[in-house]
Amino acid sequence: MTVTAQSPAAPTAAPAPTAPADDRPPQFTFRRLTVSASRRLTPHLVRVTFTGDDLRGFVTAAPDQYVKVFFPHGGRSRPDLPPPIEGDTTSWYRTYLAMPDDVRPPMRTYTVRAFRPERRELDIDFVLHPDGGPASTWAAGADAGDEVALMGPHGLYAAPEDSAWQLLVGDESAVPAIAAILEQLPADACARVFIEIGDPADRLDLSCPAADIDVRWIVRNPGAYGDAVLDAVRAADLPAAAPYAWLAGEAELVKFARRHLVRDLGVDKRAITFTGYWRRGRSEEDVGRDGLARAASVQAD
Ligand SMILES: Cc1cc2nc3c(=O)[nH]c(=O)nc-3n(C[C@H](O)[C@H](O)[C@H](O)COP(=O)(O)OP(=O)(O)OC[C@H]3O[C@@H](n4cnc5c(N)ncnc54)[C@H](O)[C@@H]3O)c2cc1C
Repeated sequence: MTVTAQSPAAPTAAPAPTAPADDRPPQFTFRRLTVSASRRLTPHLVRVTFTGDDLRGFVTAAPDQYVKVFFPHGGRSRPDLPPPIEGDTTSWYRTYLAMPDDVRPPMRTYTVRAFRPERRELDIDFVLHPDGGPASTWAAGADAGDEVALMGPHGLYAAPEDSAWQLLVGDESAVPAIAAILEQLPADACARVFIEIGDPADRLDLSCPAADIDVRWIVRNPGAYGDAVLDAVRAADLPAAAPYAWLAGEAELVKFARRHLVRDLGVDKRAITFTGYWRRGRSEEDVGRDGLARAASVQAD
């Protein structure tokens, strides 16, 4: 069942599903999915496979494509959803936040690790992190038959075809996107990859059609998110030509990696895609509310 058409005016606890509208952007459709399988890839990474007829019409955006995942609110078996999005798609997040606290489903952002349209299946790899928010906690116990909803996808990776080489930097949360990016590289691509992990057992075999690939797994200095991987990037003997760079992971890691590329290596800012995937000590909802508050204060000035 694909939920798409309902007035966005009044948030309700459990909006009635309605028929899909053909002219609605598929990225702004809520899709209800069911877990069909779950397995540990490493001690801190679990792959959850989702299935459902709602995957009809799911479009592919980019190798690092991501979706918003809605989890059931405590004690419920399925997530209540905000009113289906119509017209102005930019207001959907405010509408979501306006849902009553006791029904609003926790929502978090995740990469689509793989999508198999012919089987109506989609994989998401969840990091099981020590600060255990609703998504990580849900994923640790995910079981066949569990229900979520998702909205998306959108993607950011945009390497120009003539890039001499690519630099990919991230932490555990970026492993699914990095793996998907590597899989789609052409055979003649050149990439240097730096991934910071907390546990050496979280290394994965990242297969890739390109021959000139160097993947370095860097073990984090305990508690010092980003320091070890930044040191490794700074010390690396990188190709001399200008790269396309893709940076994702903890927000400070991303900020300092980008700063190094721009200030020390002279990389063109336009050749860098960077995304703070999470922020230490702040939940994704905290970060979203911070962003809205900042936007409101800028408008008020
Ligand atoms: C575009 C995009 C794609 C993403 N893709 C993935 C993906 O494929 N797989 C994935 O696992 N994550 C991915 N993330 C990151 C994920 O959305 C966040 O880690 C999210 O905060 C997890 O939600 P939570 O409910 O577990 O924790 P929250 O409730 O959001 O946070 C609770 C606490 O946990 C801390 N925390 C959150 N994430 C981590 C972490 N990874 N390591 C250590 N501490 C953490 C927070 O700082 C906070 O203190 C992606 C983020 C974005 C923006």
